Amino acid sequence: MDSVTVRVPAKVNLQLAVGPLRDDGYHDLVNVFHAVSIFDEVTATAKVGMSVRVEGESADQVPEDGENLAIKAAFALAGHAGRSYGVNLLIRKSIPVAGGMAGGSADAAAALVACNELWGLGLPLEDLMEIAADIGSDVPFALLGGTAVGTGRGERLTPLKVEGDFHWVFALADGGLSTATVYAECDRLREATGERVAWPRAAEPLLAALREGDAETLGAELRNDLQPAAVMLRGSLARTLKAGREHGALGSLVSGSGPTCAFLARSESHAGELAASLKDAGVARDVITAHGPVPGPVIV
Ligand code: ATP
Repeated sequence: MDSVTVRVPAKVNLQLAVGPLRDDGYHDLVNVFHAVSIFDEVTATAKVGMSVRVEGESADQVPEDGENLAIKAAFALAGHAGRSYGVNLLIRKSIPVAGGMAGGSADAAAALVACNELWGLGLPLEDLMEIAADIGSDVPFALLGGTAVGTGRGERLTPLKVEGDFHWVFALADGGLSTATVYAECDRLREATGERVAWPRAAEPLLAALREGDAETLGAELRNDLQPAAVMLRGSLARTLKAGREHGALGSLVSGSGPTCAFLARSESHAGELAASLKDAGVARDVITAHGPVPGPVIV
């Protein structure tokens, strides 16, 4: 086999509960991850040495060296196998870069699956999950897909059974937001307001809405503790979120660390109408529709 192509979805956090700042600089999180139908494709081709090339959506903002999360994943897998394998990774991006949709983590997960196949390693998912957790806290979910509750730094995962499909609209913004900057702003705001930060817990009504396929309740329960910080850093997001509510979204939130905003629609046709209204309102660089949950990385 000379090459393997893997298609991998983006994620949106339906709930992101951020606990108090720990002594080690991290936060305990509760993350309800949901994989949606916006896909990157990673093609792994056999060669001597390791290299990566990036094409598509905002490719110029993605490193093509050892900093690329996909190539880090390939190195980590080769290290695990104890062999000096080589690969060229071609990443075709559709997931917005630095948009809070874990595109880099998705590419890392896709690279693990593609190289595992290309190099004939046959490692089971549990082994890939362990390697994934060392690459980044969003990478294990990117390997799993579907919908799952993540705890710790997001890497301890419990898959959730979800009834039916949910229909989403995503408003993409110009330029990204750095995840580290958004967490720092969240800490600063909490300090400034003297907010008492509770231990993060998954919201039971939100989990029940997912289990029952109840879009109305899910919309009301969407919650992201990073949203005030993202809105503080990027004031225009307040207008985008307001426009979604005014045009009938069941719920809205900033996705992860932003600046992408997610809106829940009643149905596929409602998502199309909502997307058209948001485009007309001029509150986003681009507006796309998607559905979820979708499976994790798939060899195509
Ligand atoms: P998260 O939702 O996990 O916080 P994000 O969606 O906000 O992440 P990414 O698109 O994953 O952000 O990219 C964050 C940064 O990581 C980018 O600015 C880019 O420089 C770097 N990066 C490294 N590898 C990749 C990759 N394969 N794809 C995208 N970005 C990458």
